[in-house]
Amino acid sequence: MVKLFGVIALFCALNSFAIYFPPSIDRGEGRSGKAVFVDFLSANYKITYDLGNKKVWAKSLITFIMPSSGFPLFDLVPEPKNVKLNGKDVTSSLLPFPNVTTMRVVDSYLENGEYTLEMEHEITANVKFSFGNEVRSAFWTDDLHDRGFLELYLPSNLEYDQYAMEIEVKVEGASKDYDLITNGAIEKRGTNDFNVKYPEYFNASSIYYHLMPSGAIPKIEEKYTTIDGREVPLIIYSNGTLLLYKQKALATLGELEKDYGPWPHKKIIIYGGGYGGGMEYCGATETDLNSLGHELTHSYFARGVMPAQGNSGWIDEAMASWRDGGYQQYSQDNLTATRMAGHSVYQRQTDGAAYSSGMRFLGHLDQKFSAQGGLKKFMRFYFEKNLFNPYLTQTFEQDLDSYFATDLGVLFGRYIYGTSMDDGSYLPLKSFKSDNPVHRIRSKSELLELL
Ligand SMILES: [Zn+2]
Repeated sequence: MVKLFGVIALFCALNSFAIYFPPSIDRGEGRSGKAVFVDFLSANYKITYDLGNKKVWAKSLITFIMPSSGFPLFDLVPEPKNVKLNGKDVTSSLLPFPNVTTMRVVDSYLENGEYTLEMEHEITANVKFSFGNEVRSAFWTDDLHDRGFLELYLPSNLEYDQYAMEIEVKVEGASKDYDLITNGAIEKRGTNDFNVKYPEYFNASSIYYHLMPSGAIPKIEEKYTTIDGREVPLIIYSNGTLLLYKQKALATLGELEKDYGPWPHKKIIIYGGGYGGGMEYCGATETDLNSLGHELTHSYFARGVMPAQGNSGWIDEAMASWRDGGYQQYSQDNLTATRMAGHSVYQRQTDGAAYSSGMRFLGHLDQKFSAQGGLKKFMRFYFEKNLFNPYLTQTFEQDLDSYFATDLGVLFGRYIYGTSMDDGSYLPLKSFKSDNPVHRIRSKSELLELL
């Protein structure tokens, strides 16, 4: 669901939140009508691990709103089967956005209004069946590649959309108990039968999900008391040294709460995977020890305040990297022109320049505004103002302008949007290669090893 964006407001053309919907796009190949970005209201996913046949099946039910008439868009990397709209059989097809991304479109023209979408598919990514009748499964995601979020596993919308998700998980034919580690509210309904409800501010990059036989990975479970006195479950599990992860986690949590306020999530989940680098989720991370501080920072910036699209993803990588480097200041001479927020509005992944150029840009703002308290003070304000809301680079810039009573248009144009080069030229697309070991791109076999 698009936050603060009820059914009535949805049809109000003046609502400022409309900027979060990417514009409708032609269906291509001479097909008439526009493909329309929709507003998911809720999603129910039923996942069955069939150990006898070594298969994982998913059945999904999505309720969504068409904000305008056209053909509804969603995404799912695996091929969906038995797609139904309002209970009737329909077809869907892949829709390429040339040189940017791919989504799926339901081949049915719909007027404004509320609809249901059902489908079935097989989950194969990051699932490992092994001898001894066991399965391990995780929803590892990646913000540096196109289609790297929940759509790898379940039908989803893009990051601009937040909606309540529920996952029902059954492991059938198992001879042992299973443990599901996830950042939602888990209800155990029976042996190897779980129901998980996630908060309605979650989006396609929020869910942490890891299923394994109970006891497969050593685990610490205790309570962490936040700076405002809440008791939050703290789960740390790893085949590495648990105590080292715990010590570093507690030190980092103390630092982040002092700098940016109380831990914003209902849990803290840390999987010490140990494979160079890590990835962030809402209140959760899979990480090596070196990247733990960086990934926990992302529970504030990335999964606390949340990028609405690929063009906003640079802010959180710049912020976490600026913290990793000890919040250094940089003069304008240290900056490089980039196009980190100047890509297509349909871009889903983060520009790799965020870790270096983006980080120095924030360090420059800190120097520029040091007499007004500096950038860290602003980032705390920004976090509190926008917690659990998606943001665009433009709204970040507006918040900076009003907080510091300034106009950063020229700096953003040159160093962030890539639209105001001296000779009027437009910077070409940079590759999305991460130049920071923290988010090193892992191979398929490394991701399977993490299971
Ligand atoms: Zn990061």
